[in-house]
Amino acid sequence: MGYSGKFSGWRVLKEGLTGNKGWQGHWREVQPKPEYDLVIIGGGGHGLSTAYYLAKNHGLTNVAVLEKGYLGGGNVGRNTTIVRANYFLQGNSEFYSHSLKLWEGLEEDLNYNVMHSQRGLINLFHSDGQRDAFARRGNMMINQGDDAVLLDREGVRKHLPYLDFEQTRFPIYGGLMHPRGGTARHDAVAWGYARGASDRGVDLVQNCEVTGIDIEDGVVKGVQTSRGPIRAKKVGIIVAGRSGQVAAMAGRRLPIESHVLQAFVTEGLKPVIDHVVSFGMGHFYISQSDKGGLVFGGDLDFYASYAQRGNLPMKEHVMEAGMTLMPMIGKAKVLRSWGGIMDMTPDGSPIIDRIDGIDGLYIDCGWNYGGFKAVPASGWCMAHLMATDRPHEVAEKFRLDRFRTGVGIMDEEGTGAQHNLH
Ligand SMILES: Cc1cc2nc3c(=O)[nH]c(=O)nc-3n(C[C@H](O)[C@H](O)[C@H](O)COP(=O)(O)OP(=O)(O)OC[C@H]3O[C@@H](n4cnc5c(N)ncnc54)[C@H](O)[C@@H]3O)c2cc1C
Repeated sequence: MGYSGKFSGWRVLKEGLTGNKGWQGHWREVQPKPEYDLVIIGGGGHGLSTAYYLAKNHGLTNVAVLEKGYLGGGNVGRNTTIVRANYFLQGNSEFYSHSLKLWEGLEEDLNYNVMHSQRGLINLFHSDGQRDAFARRGNMMINQGDDAVLLDREGVRKHLPYLDFEQTRFPIYGGLMHPRGGTARHDAVAWGYARGASDRGVDLVQNCEVTGIDIEDGVVKGVQTSRGPIRAKKVGIIVAGRSGQVAAMAGRRLPIESHVLQAFVTEGLKPVIDHVVSFGMGHFYISQSDKGGLVFGGDLDFYASYAQRGNLPMKEHVMEAGMTLMPMIGKAKVLRSWGGIMDMTPDGSPIIDRIDGIDGLYIDCGWNYGGFKAVPASGWCMAHLMATDRPHEVAEKFRLDRFRTGVGIMDEEGTGAQHNLH
């Protein structure tokens, strides 16, 4: 371990006894160099994990991550922290399965406490049809090697006694439980990857906005930034909700719409919710943070926007759904709400690919409202693609051209090709 040293119980003890003088920042402060082998645009979860695995798995360290704001200030620090591998479709299921396995070894790998907590996820169902769909999903998860348990109403009551089981409009029939699902502390994930990448020699450049992409005769040459031009042999666009804008700098139009997604947290409470729970008949899901706040959210605001804040109708909708499912929540006081910009694809599945017709330009985007759990595998696969020019086997289906050819469209929720309107 380089700059910030290895964390251990022994070190905490030693620092505690010697006045805590030995701690350093998590990553090196750097000035951007005029040239790198690889440049990553975007210091969110996916950009940082890509940089980390470029260095760790492929030995590529002449790399810069360029972040227009501060590391972790985007969606990676705004999400509701749910980590799960309960996807249904081939293409998605092996990718998220790979990601969950990486999560399970992440703290040891990064030598960083990301507070990954496999407290179990329960998706509730409220009709026979919904139960059948969840039973199918559970079977797919088991076939993929992940875990799933179909609970009946009494099974759910054992885990979640505080739900309103008697409400007549949306009675609870049961739930699909994913015991290895859970949460992690979102910004610690960004910090852990940043520290790991920086320790391996990657330059992390904050307050550095990319304003242009230099391309000559179909070959990428570098980027223009608010801190001057930077040459690079390969450039990765990993900017989540800003993907459309940054791809436009290379003259490309993406099949992406940027939409606002909101989340909420209450004041700290004693432990009351020890799983992640989602309502099957309304837009509401919830967990409790280690600090005690109830963290919950719902659906998109359903209009395209780059504003990192949401509107009142969706707040009302989420609160109503919460009250329907667990009336006790009405006693908690909401402390904060916020929004993030989601990179929505028409089929709800991501893109990790080269940009056709421009050598050396790559893109990782389309994470919709579920990209936090994907951070480890996305970085792993994007690093593989950028280093070897071949897709990683668990991300082979995340091709950009599926939206042009219609071949290989992946519609995770079976909602048609307008995922953002489901
Ligand atoms: C309210 C909410 C709840 C969510 N809940 C969950 C959840 O429970 N589980 C889950 O799996 N996912 C969830 N998500 C989704 C998840 O957070 C995102 O899919 C994921 O974080 C996106 O990838 P990222 O971390 O790389 O994005 P970001 O952190 O947004 O990183 C992109 C970075 O690019 C930078 N950037 C943009 N343009 C430029 C430029 N021109 N130059 C330089 N830098 C630039 C931005 O400043 C930003 O830091 C949620 C999202 C939100 C908003």
